[in-house]
Amino acid sequence: MITKAYSFVNTQQDSIIGSFFSGSRSVRRGFGVSQGILRLNPSWNTRAFTYHPLLRYGIAVIAVNIATIVNLLLVLAWGAEIPFLLFLSAVILSAWFGGIRAGLFATLLSIVMAYYLYFIASNSSLTVNPHFLIRSLVFGIEGFLVSGVLYTMHDAIKKYTLKNHELRKSEERYRMVVETVKDYAIYTVNSNGYITSWNDGAATMSGYSSQEVLGRHFSLFFPLDEIDKGSPWLMLRQAMTDARSEIECYQVTRGGRAFWANMVITSMQEANSLYEFSIIVRDMTERKEQEKRKDEFITIASHELKTPVTSLKVFTQVLLRQYAQSVDKNAIKYLHKMDIQLDRLTHLVNDLLDVSKIQAGNIDLDIEDFDMNELVRDTIDSLQGLSAHHHFVIRGNVLTRIKGDKDRIGQVLINFLTNAVKYSPNADEVVVSLSQDGEKVIISVKDFGIGIPNEYKNRIFERFFRVKHSDNNQFPGLGMGLFISSEIIRRHNGAFWVESEKDRGSTFYFTLPIQYE
Ligand code: ADP
Repeated sequence: MITKAYSFVNTQQDSIIGSFFSGSRSVRRGFGVSQGILRLNPSWNTRAFTYHPLLRYGIAVIAVNIATIVNLLLVLAWGAEIPFLLFLSAVILSAWFGGIRAGLFATLLSIVMAYYLYFIASNSSLTVNPHFLIRSLVFGIEGFLVSGVLYTMHDAIKKYTLKNHELRKSEERYRMVVETVKDYAIYTVNSNGYITSWNDGAATMSGYSSQEVLGRHFSLFFPLDEIDKGSPWLMLRQAMTDARSEIECYQVTRGGRAFWANMVITSMQEANSLYEFSIIVRDMTERKEQEKRKDEFITIASHELKTPVTSLKVFTQVLLRQYAQSVDKNAIKYLHKMDIQLDRLTHLVNDLLDVSKIQAGNIDLDIEDFDMNELVRDTIDSLQGLSAHHHFVIRGNVLTRIKGDKDRIGQVLINFLTNAVKYSPNADEVVVSLSQDGEKVIISVKDFGIGIPNEYKNRIFERFFRVKHSDNNQFPGLGMGLFISSEIIRRHNGAFWVESEKDRGSTFYFTLPIQYE
């Protein structure tokens, strides 16, 4: 939170009173910017707005004296009865500008002056008329009440004015920030998606001026396929339930140009319980281009690597066969090591190629009928050399044959099993469970390893995502396996998920429909 304090000197009275204020007149005020919204700091205190005592009582003395002079003239000219009303004006003036004490002081002073006038009017007779006594007593009570009421009123008005002023300043600042942002389109829509405000950035990005878009529906910026999918309305609904929704999709400018955008919708529920939404759009064209270049590079590099790696593998196999009967044990040992490294390289290149295919949306499936129990057993057999101290336990079975791409499902199993071994260096067991539930089979791979912290569970299926371990180098990998596996399962219309607890191990699940559709 950014918090800033500053001196505040700007009220009507400031300009009237000017330099009579004491040094303590300035009020320390605070305002804060929290989560993008400027708000008033409630700790401000208007009572610090005090006049100099000289000025406060000075006003009372001047006001009462003026009232006395006017009264004196009236008494001398017409011998009128002492009019307390004029003194009451002096009390009002004093209480308003000088506060309750000045009001009371003016009341007392007025009574003294009234007595003085009374003696003048009654030719210095020392007896006081009881009627005059009662009137001055009533005037004293009136003065007291008026002073109290006026002081409270004045104080409330002062507070209200200050609060309003500060609020206006905050709003103005906030508006300026929002309106002048150029790199982001920031606008608001009402609960039905109709645009209610529009900043400069939105005008620059979309080509629409505020006059053209205010009151129109924000689906205006979506391409037709997104409108057909109902994306604008789905986003609003999600923001309404989750307070926020975010997507990356194309947006269309006034001139019809489509650009890749990141869009965040945040709901702001108003006091009347109607929803309003703020929408922030960022042009991601540049980043999208970079990603495209990176994807192209991965595709080209993996294709270029594939041929030499395959040739090297073939040559190594030939050499291994030739040296099989040789007495040169060292040559055989190194050729075997070379072969193992080439397998790893082939695996890596294949993964890179798969990632490119997934990105391009053309991963093909070769659907056949196969026995899942057999596939699990064969896959485990092929991995026996993976770890000296891990053993695999198979629990349950699947009763029917299923339809799917056997090699691709085998690839998923290999990924889950190698991960289970890799991420449980201090455990010795991996449990594979098979079961059938109606029209689908459920396979799980359970390990007793390092587990996955909660905040990463949803992210490990993302491309190139790896959990940051305290000792990251301990577990080699590129974060492609789970991304490819999840895509293979998705293409089979299956589901996948993980249950895990840090330091307690993980269980990776996937389900497959028995009949591929
Ligand atoms: P890689 O293992 O090559 O890094 P994966 O896509 O197979 O890539 O896995 C992604 C991330 O998920 C891994 O980096 C690891 O942090 C986490 N992970 C996967 N399997 C397990 C597991 N069995 N136990 C703990 N963490 C795992």
